[in-house]
Amino acid sequence: MHSKLHGKTALVTGSSRGIGRATALGLAREGTLIAVHYGRDEQAAKETVNLIEKDGGRAFTVGAQLGADGAVDRLFAGLEAGLREHTGRTVLDILVNNAAATGFGGAPEDVTAEEVDRMFAVNAKAPFLIIQRTLDLMPEGGRIVNISSAVTRKAIPEQLAYAMSKGSIDQLTLHLARHLAPRGITVNSVLPGATDNGGDAFRMPEVREPMSQLSAFKRLGAPADVADVVVFLTTDQARWVTGSCLDATGGSLLG
Ligand code: NAP
Repeated sequence: MHSKLHGKTALVTGSSRGIGRATALGLAREGTLIAVHYGRDEQAAKETVNLIEKDGGRAFTVGAQLGADGAVDRLFAGLEAGLREHTGRTVLDILVNNAAATGFGGAPEDVTAEEVDRMFAVNAKAPFLIIQRTLDLMPEGGRIVNISSAVTRKAIPEQLAYAMSKGSIDQLTLHLARHLAPRGITVNSVLPGATDNGGDAFRMPEVREPMSQLSAFKRLGAPADVADVVVFLTTDQARWVTGSCLDATGGSLLG
């Protein structure tokens, strides 16, 4: 059977659950060896690896709590060791910057400086540093996908700190798409809307119901709805798409 990404390697940050896990599974199904990155929950990351292996794919875990001192060094030490073990070299074809700090900050007047620092450390600075390090490992034809959010397009004042940090992701996409085109590397953002990541909030009818109404299809997104868009961007079929922000909100921004 011909798979679209046979022999490729990928790092998916925050793939211990949610959209990251679905992306890891989707890429693995197309033949990619996956580095399943996690922050705190090693068990959940191992479960992602198990699911990939059951599906006939290959994966290994890499832990690093982004935002902490030295986290990106630890991430790349683990990544390079895993790639060397599985492939004999340290080539990384695909990077998906998915891990993010979330949470309602409350009214803009109440957001603390610490909260802003935390959002920017995990959601903006870490993806930037990860891309910097990736560029030493990424060959011609590489793919970078940054997971943004619909809140960069729709005003939700209670999520201002998060939205500011996610806006940075789209800046990484814009400027690096230009910078990396000569190397044949594409850089794109994917914007999820409300997506049921399996978290507790999504089990509460008072959360599910209004969030379902945001999409034109009147349902919550599933992680695979977003992951399929990410996988598309990593394939050769998407070679002419760079610097773009793909809406994966199920029409939540149609107005
Ligand atoms: P999720 O289920 O909350 O999972 C978050 C993942 O990121 C986990 O694997 C977690 O690992 C990891 N992570 C979080 N903070 C980390 C840190 N400081 N260091 C290392 N890893 C960390 O996430 P999701 O809902 O699938 O969201 C995935 C992406 O989509 C995020 O970029 C999010 O902003 C974006 N998004 C989601 C929605 C939505 O409705 N779900 C909407 C718009 C955008 P550990 O648990 O091991 O720490």
